[in-house]
Amino acid sequence: MTERRVRVRFAPSPTGPLHIGGVRTALYNYLFAKKHGGDFIIRIEDTDQTRFVPGAEAYIIESLKWLGIEANEGIGFGDGPHAPYRQSERKSMYKQYAMQLIENGHAYYAFDTPEELESMREQLKASNVDAKYDPITRSAMKNSLTLSEDEVNERLASGQPYVIRFKLPRKEEVKFYDEIRGWVNVNTGQMDDKVLYKSDGMPTYHLANVVDDYLMQTTHVIRGEEWLPSAPLHILLYKALGWEEVMPKFAHLPLLLKPEGNGKLSKRDGDRLGFPVFPLQWTDPISGEVSSGYRESGYLPEAVVNLLALLGWNPGNNIELMTKAQMIELFSLDRVSKHGAKFDQNKARWFNQQYIRHTDTQQLATALSKEVEARDLAFTPEYIAKACDLIKEKITFIKDLWPMGAYFFVAPQTYDQAVLAKRWNEKSPLVLQSIIQNIQTETTFTAASMENAYTKALVSHDVAPKDFLQVLRVVLTGVAGGPPLFEAASLFGKEETIKRLQYAIETINK
Ligand code: GLU
Repeated sequence: MTERRVRVRFAPSPTGPLHIGGVRTALYNYLFAKKHGGDFIIRIEDTDQTRFVPGAEAYIIESLKWLGIEANEGIGFGDGPHAPYRQSERKSMYKQYAMQLIENGHAYYAFDTPEELESMREQLKASNVDAKYDPITRSAMKNSLTLSEDEVNERLASGQPYVIRFKLPRKEEVKFYDEIRGWVNVNTGQMDDKVLYKSDGMPTYHLANVVDDYLMQTTHVIRGEEWLPSAPLHILLYKALGWEEVMPKFAHLPLLLKPEGNGKLSKRDGDRLGFPVFPLQWTDPISGEVSSGYRESGYLPEAVVNLLALLGWNPGNNIELMTKAQMIELFSLDRVSKHGAKFDQNKARWFNQQYIRHTDTQQLATALSKEVEARDLAFTPEYIAKACDLIKEKITFIKDLWPMGAYFFVAPQTYDQAVLAKRWNEKSPLVLQSIIQNIQTETTFTAASMENAYTKALVSHDVAPKDFLQVLRVVLTGVAGGPPLFEAASLFGKEETIKRLQYAIETINK
C-alpha cells in the first residue's frame, strides 16, 4: 500500500467550553499534521443532542483561532472536500453503514424498552453479574437474534422504536498498537454490545466517529485517554465494515492532572488555586456562571501554546521556550508520555513572563498609554515606550504594567515602610541632599550621571552602597523592587528626580 497523506482531526463535542486538556489534544494534532506536511481537520461531533450547549461550538473555534491552532479543513476554517463537517448535518450518511453491519451479521436490531433494560440490570445486579447487554445477556432480550424474522419485520413496519447494537464477538482478544502506550489488549468479555444507531435516525458517537474517520481518510486518531476504552470497539467496527486496510493508527494522550498530581485537572482546581482551565472566558448559557479564561486573565496565546505543548510531550532537549515552528520540527508521538502530566500554575505564569519579555515594546506601550490617558496624565509616546522597556522584565501580565509602573507617571506619596524601618537613619536626608547638589552640578542628566551623583554623595557621607541603594529606590519609586534605578531616574528627568528627593527629605520622619 502506498504511504497515505497524513490526515488528523480534532473532533470535539459542543457540550460546553473547551477544557485546556482539549486544547492540548487539538495542538498535538496540529503539530503532528504540520510535522508530516499533512492535513488537520476540525469535525464537530454533535450526535448527542441531549448534551448540546448553545455557544459551545463558536467558543471552541474562537479558542483555536486565538491560539493560532489553524485547521486546513472543517468547521470554522473553511470547508474542504469532505463537507459537511458537523455530524448532525451528515445524519443521512450513517444509516447505510448500520445496515451493512446488520447484513453482515455484525449488528442487530434491539427493541427492548427502557423498563425492560432496567429490569435486566436489576436482575443481573441481584445475581452479582456485570449488568450489561452482551453476548450472554442478549439471548434473553428482545432483539433480532431472539425474535423471529416475521416479528422483527412487523415491529419495524409498525414503526416501533429500536436501536441497532453491535454484535460483539464472544471472548475474543482485541489487540491493537497505541502509538503512545504500545500494545493494548482487551477481551470482548469486558465489553458490551454498544448502541450504534437509533430509530430517530441518529448514529451514536461510536458509529459516527468511525464512519467519519473512514470517509475523511483519517490516518491517525490522536485523542484523550478517556477514549482508550472505546478504541477496541472502534477497531472491531473497522474490521466489521471491511476497512481494516485503511484503519487509522491510534494515539491516546495522557491526562492533565491536578497540580498535586492526584486526578484529572478540573475547573474546581482552577477556582481553588486561582488559574483558568479554559482558554477563553465562558459564561454558562443556563446558570450564567462565568469561568475565567487564559485570554481574559492576561495570558499571551504563544505562552499558552508553549506551556500546553510541554504538558505531556518532551522535545528531547532541555529547551522550554519554543516557537511554533520549532515545536513542529521536533514533535513526535513517541516523545509523548503515557503518564499524566501535572499542571503547574507557577510554571504557566513563568511562561507568560518569558513571552512578555519578548513582546514588542510598542504593543505594551499601547496598553500602558490607555492607563495613562484614563488618568488624564500627559506623557509622550517615547516616554511611555521607555517605561515599558524598563518594566517589561518585571511583569507577568500586560495588566501588571500600570500597578508595577505607576511611579513612572505619578510620584510616590507613600513609601515601603519595611525598607525605611530597616535602612533610614539620621544620615539619610543628608545623603539625599548631597545627591540633589551633585545632580545640579552635573551638566547632563543620564543614568551614568545620576549614578555618579549618588556615588559621590555616599563617599562624602561615608555610607556603604549596599545600605543606601534601597533607600534611594524607595524614595524615587515608593517600592522596594523594580528596574535598574538610575535608568528609571534618567527617564523621570532631572527636575522630577530632584522633586522626589526633596519631597522625601521633607516628609520622611516628620
Ligand atoms: N467527540 C469526542 C470528544 O468530544 C472525540 C473523540 C475522538 O477524538 O475520537 O472528545
